[in-house]
Amino acid sequence: MTQSTKRTIQKILIANRGEISVRIQKTCQQLGIRTVAVYSEADQNANFVLMADEAVCIGAPEPSLSYLNQEEILKACRSTGADAVHPGYGFLSENASFAKGLADEGILFLGPKADSIDLMGDKIRSRDAMAKAGVPVVPGYSSDSNDVNAFLTEAKKIGFPVMIKATAGGGGKGMRKVDSEEEFIPSFESAVREATKAFGNGLVFLEKYIGNPRHIEFQIFGDSFGNVIHMHERDCSIQRRHQKVLEETPAPNFPAEWKEKMAEYAVLAGKSIGYLGAGTVEFILGEDGSFFFLEMNTRLQVEHPVTEMVTGLDLVELQIQIAEGKELPAPLLEPDGVPQNGHSMEVRVYAENPANQFLPSIGKIEWMKLPLSRGLRLDTGVETGSEVSIYYDPMIGKLIAHADDRETCRKKLLSALKKFVIFGPITNINFLQNILQEPDFIDGKVSTHFLNGKDHLIYQREDDKREALSLIFQLVQKPKVAKSIWEAIGNAFQV
Ligand code: ADP
Repeated sequence: MTQSTKRTIQKILIANRGEISVRIQKTCQQLGIRTVAVYSEADQNANFVLMADEAVCIGAPEPSLSYLNQEEILKACRSTGADAVHPGYGFLSENASFAKGLADEGILFLGPKADSIDLMGDKIRSRDAMAKAGVPVVPGYSSDSNDVNAFLTEAKKIGFPVMIKATAGGGGKGMRKVDSEEEFIPSFESAVREATKAFGNGLVFLEKYIGNPRHIEFQIFGDSFGNVIHMHERDCSIQRRHQKVLEETPAPNFPAEWKEKMAEYAVLAGKSIGYLGAGTVEFILGEDGSFFFLEMNTRLQVEHPVTEMVTGLDLVELQIQIAEGKELPAPLLEPDGVPQNGHSMEVRVYAENPANQFLPSIGKIEWMKLPLSRGLRLDTGVETGSEVSIYYDPMIGKLIAHADDRETCRKKLLSALKKFVIFGPITNINFLQNILQEPDFIDGKVSTHFLNGKDHLIYQREDDKREALSLIFQLVQKPKVAKSIWEAIGNAFQV
């Protein structure tokens, strides 16, 4: 990699919404960089819009008409004179044509080069590239046609169970576990249908199914001087339908030898493609300690705060510095130069109803309160009075705790969740509390199957109480009175 020309960024447009826009703007404010928010008609009163120095409406609420509308976002860059774009996560963050479109206009993209996005966005090409670089990949089979009989023959060779995955996949869509030969053809067909619907690309591939695995990923960073470093791991094994629910670092019960090997491969993965900026290399870890490359995410992850808590680094600031053509800070390039202090855990707080198949629970947040103290961080884009809209992911925010050790961190997060008041939408807060109190979780016995067969975690003992309080609120209709009643009951229940 050659060194790029140095530039100082003056104004960043954030091509995203909600909590991640707020998160990015906070760093910009600290660095004295001006911010531009782009927003859809549904978001005109949202916090991230009010917080920005400038804001531009880019269209109707549907993501395809606003947050995914490249032309409108480019126009907003031109009209505001933004010299860089931060894409956040989701939306256009892993869209190579967007990155290219910006580069063509001389606007910096706070992400990797377009060809890294292209390569890593294709699960087959990325698997092949990683295998070639010497990074272990899950044994599997791919082809450029979806010939079901050829796939079935290969599935038999790999041995059941196998995993069918969408090449253009993401968010667990188009993914199927197949236990036996009989199930193969219908599962294959439904995976292809789902992938076509979700990604406009029905091509799938096969992988050996890894039983009861853990999901461990490494934060990596590359600069334009050819340096690639890792910033330790995150354990994201607590998942529901392949979606992360809770993330932590360091990974519990993760021997130092395993970590060292995995970290080496994470750095090798980044180096082999001349990676620039922040990326995440995801691995699947088998019970016997064998592990394989799953995919690389070429952006800032939802769960990046846990890494920030233990390293003390600001990952958005580093992304900006690297885009400006600077080298990674010298202390980080030393052997073991990236600090790792204590333990951090994050939970994703959602406006959803676990008791009703986790369906989104949208509407106005009548009252939201969380007293924060040292070692607690809430990344959110909403507050009292905000709307959780039907158009977007109903995440209310991410609550992150940091402490000297895992057990203290767990208790701190649990006690913060107990104090987290949200009136209006139903939330998954009790579900998260239940996970944190589950004996296997306390012992660090985590795997991606952790939630299977644990329906008692979904049943919310405290639901009735929260519901009663919501009712009081609706009846009284006066926030102040409702708050005093809440506090009185809260004290009685020791919430
Ligand atoms: P996506 O990009 O759709 O999120 P990933 O490839 O990252 O898909 O996989 C998501 C999750 O699915 C993993 O964290 C893991 O829990 C599970 N998974 C993926 N591949 C396998 C496999 N070969 N065997 C067992 N579980 C898997």
